[in-house]
Amino acid sequence: MKVLLIATKNKGKVREFEDLFAKFGYQVQSLLEMGDSIDVVEDGVTFQENAIKKAETIASEFRIPTLADDSGLIVDALDGRPGVYSARYAGEEKDDQANLEKVLTELEDVPELERTARFHCSLALAIPGKETIVVDGTCEGVITREPRGEHGFGYDPIMYIPSMDKTMAQLTKQEKNMISHRSNALKKLQEQLSEVF
Ligand code: IMP
Repeated sequence: MKVLLIATKNKGKVREFEDLFAKFGYQVQSLLEMGDSIDVVEDGVTFQENAIKKAETIASEFRIPTLADDSGLIVDALDGRPGVYSARYAGEEKDDQANLEKVLTELEDVPELERTARFHCSLALAIPGKETIVVDGTCEGVITREPRGEHGFGYDPIMYIPSMDKTMAQLTKQEKNMISHRSNALKKLQEQLSEVF
């Protein structure tokens, strides 16, 4: 079986990608199985830049097709913040609770209609010798006044999804996978995969 490397050590993300690529006869491996690898610094100013840099660096290190993602929350009333800084919005510790509290505090005086936001995911697939494929997926929502729900991670408890009448953290994993920015990006990638694989 051919191998596709996912440039992440996040087991949840690896599982999300496994099913899709199995359909194309690819077995998914992650950086967890690869031992030491280059630590790619995510210093781009866009999600796409970070995803491309990660995918191409790791693909050329191991010489196998590599998929990388970069994602985050874009809040309209905060001029797009936290954006590419989503993981470390409240500091280098990557503290999910501190990050979402910072967003809630910054939105304290912002009325309901102006609390619109979206999750964004950029996926980059780098195949040695071919041009890198880049796709984006989004998921629209509204920032709540307080956290609700126990599932998911990151900003899920403060992201209300009007079509589901729940926050992301109140959705089951299956429900989240139906509407998430990552699965929307994956669907777009899927449309292009048959051309390259
Ligand atoms: P990364 O793409 O793993 O670097 O994720 C960046 C950050 O964006 C995460 O640490 C989360 O704070 C946020 N984020 C990305 N995807 C999600 C999601 O599905 N739910 C909640 N937060 C997310």
